[in-house]
Amino acid sequence: MDQDDQRDEAETVTCGNSKCKSKIVPGDCQDGDETKKKNKKKSQKTTRRRQLMSFSELPDYMKDNEFILNYYRADWSIRDAFFSVFSFHNESLNVWTHLLGFILFVALTVANIMHHDKFFPVDAKSPGNVTRWPFFVFLGGSMFCLLSSSICHLFCCHSKDLNLVLLRIDYTGISVMIITSFFPAMYYIFLCTPRWYVIYLTGITSMGIFTIITLFTPSLSSPKYRGFRALLFAVMGLFGIVPGVHALVVNWGNPQRNATLVYELAMAVFYLVGTGFYVGRVPERFKPGWFDRVGHSHQIFHVFVLLGALSHYAAALLFLDWRDHVSC
Ligand SMILES: [Zn+2]
Repeated sequence: MDQDDQRDEAETVTCGNSKCKSKIVPGDCQDGDETKKKNKKKSQKTTRRRQLMSFSELPDYMKDNEFILNYYRADWSIRDAFFSVFSFHNESLNVWTHLLGFILFVALTVANIMHHDKFFPVDAKSPGNVTRWPFFVFLGGSMFCLLSSSICHLFCCHSKDLNLVLLRIDYTGISVMIITSFFPAMYYIFLCTPRWYVIYLTGITSMGIFTIITLFTPSLSSPKYRGFRALLFAVMGLFGIVPGVHALVVNWGNPQRNATLVYELAMAVFYLVGTGFYVGRVPERFKPGWFDRVGHSHQIFHVFVLLGALSHYAAALLFLDWRDHVSC
């Protein structure tokens, strides 16, 4: 008999003496005891629910990566899942890598808004007066992706239904980030020949919508289709090669050509290497259980996504600077 049970018995005995009977009717007393027992069971249940579990104990909807063996949350309440942002489980760094990235992009957006009041200038093509909206579309897309990813990783342990909804939002966020990344590059490069930025932006937006609709099929969210999902995102990213080569030919004489090219290539490398970790589940596949909380593939993938977004941000600043000096 544990201490709690002994305490319970003691309370029952106390309830049965004359002192108890003289103050409250027996029915009330029993109700009080039952309430206490119920509360005790409830608190035990809550404690149990907040315990981290192993891969083998997980419900099927949470079984995503068999190389991560421990520190899982499953079937937690929204409240418990929310406060788990301050505890150390196997999703902690997945949440924080993109949450800090989101905060960084909010700060960059605020800094840019404070320095510019030219969202929709009257003469958007004149030097020093180029419109900023495509740049802010990219910043908005990045913030949406990073925040939806953090929310997905934090609350995906709540229930099967919410898990599926959040995964869809996460995939939508990745697609939106890829689509919006094209906006500053295409708009500023082809500012003087608008038909080209219309063609390329329509192309990437259509591909993004196709990807989102495809990934809304529940079965495609399963671990089995991890490679297929990565392929869809990679194809969207690789679509950038077409306007990239076109831009290089058209703007060969641009003095900032090499710098922007380096940033954009860095972005492509970061995204592709990150996707490689995501699909390959490296390094945890070589030492299952070693990287449960720190260093597993999804965390590395998140860091590379953030580095890719920052490279593209640097390239976008160069495009803006160029268009502030060189008009059509
Ligand atoms: Zn993620």
